[in-house]
Amino acid sequence: MKKIALLGSTGSIGTNTLQIVDAHPEEFRVTFLAANSRVERLLEQAHKYRPGMVVIADESKYTLLRDGLKGTGISYAAGAKALEAAVRDHEADIVLNAIVGSAGLPATIAAAEAGRDIALSNKESLVMAGELINRLCEKNAARILPVDSEHSAIWQCLAGEAPKDVEKLILTGSGGPFLRRDPESFDSITPEEALRHPNWSMGKKITVDSATLFNKGLELIEARHLFHIEAERIAILIHPESIIHSMVQFRDGSVKAQLGVPDMKIPIQYALGYPGRLPSNWPRLDLAKTAKLHFEEPDIRRFPALRISREALEAGMTYPAVLNIANEKAVYRFLNREIGFPEIAKEVEKALEAHRPLDPCSRENILALAEML
Ligand code: NAD
Ligand code: MG
Repeated sequence: MKKIALLGSTGSIGTNTLQIVDAHPEEFRVTFLAANSRVERLLEQAHKYRPGMVVIADESKYTLLRDGLKGTGISYAAGAKALEAAVRDHEADIVLNAIVGSAGLPATIAAAEAGRDIALSNKESLVMAGELINRLCEKNAARILPVDSEHSAIWQCLAGEAPKDVEKLILTGSGGPFLRRDPESFDSITPEEALRHPNWSMGKKITVDSATLFNKGLELIEARHLFHIEAERIAILIHPESIIHSMVQFRDGSVKAQLGVPDMKIPIQYALGYPGRLPSNWPRLDLAKTAKLHFEEPDIRRFPALRISREALEAGMTYPAVLNIANEKAVYRFLNREIGFPEIAKEVEKALEAHRPLDPCSRENILALAEML
């Protein structure tokens, strides 16, 4: 029985994770739940799963949480600091971090410091502080188990392989909703259009990232830190059907790919069940029905996010952290209709140009940058 601390339990990854727990009551127990501000939803989950601890980041919801848990014996707290402390102190076997954005970073750091297994969905943590997190994991014998579907695919392809045999990683991406749209009309893209992803149902921030392709840029940086491989050996390939979730090419020319229906429950369950595989009853891939898979090179002119992300990764230092923060800020401004779609990439580039790089292994530097948001 693995005890799971689930951070971001009310979101898209969080609720998918709870469905996996429901399907495997013998394997998993949720002992900690945390979310941002949807207190009603969090209370419903607390009553159903009976964790030992519940934290809400939004302090204004404290009394609602307290009243809602009265008589249950469940411990509770509110605020970002309380969340960070609870992640450090709570004895879970695995911390699944499904908080969205840079707000997820302190929890990843706390879990790494506590030497936990971290099923990491919050890719932004690794983008902002990959060097620091890897160093903390090594020091405290913590492990990162990828949840992002591409990285789960690569992880599965690497099973049983020696690092010296790996030639390159091939990250696949659907290309998002604007793969075929005339770039001349990108100015008029509305948040509603950007939120209509062709293959995946996800939270708003990552859905917009998937439309600009910053998501693929963040994943490039995430892959670099997860698999300790140089940026030049990570390729990006557009694959609109999202059936091949990524691939690894080896030095003998052989290529391994991981395939499946686009459903985040598969990579989440793989991370939770690792090193084994658990059964499931979700729909199976039917390649005869899919019939055709397509591939193409990404168009850097149409999606400058890919070029900007690669440049930030190559520049190193705190450039990737700034890329992440500036992107996050711009995404919410776009969702609030304060800026247009093409401005997202422009704002990120401006922030990178203005940045004076700092030591990326300093916890204080990175957290201070995160607070600039
Ligand atoms: P979401 O918006 O659906 O959910 C976000 C969750 O984070 C919510 O539970 C919310 O309460 C919580 N949260 C937000 N701010 C918080 C804060 N300050 N403190 C504590 N909790 C906070 O997002 P999502 O789509 O589930 O994505 C979560 C993470 O997983 C993101 O980093 C995303 O990039 C990554 N991811 C998501 C998918 C997907 O299919 N949804 C796929 C791959 C990776
Ligand atoms: Mg992904």
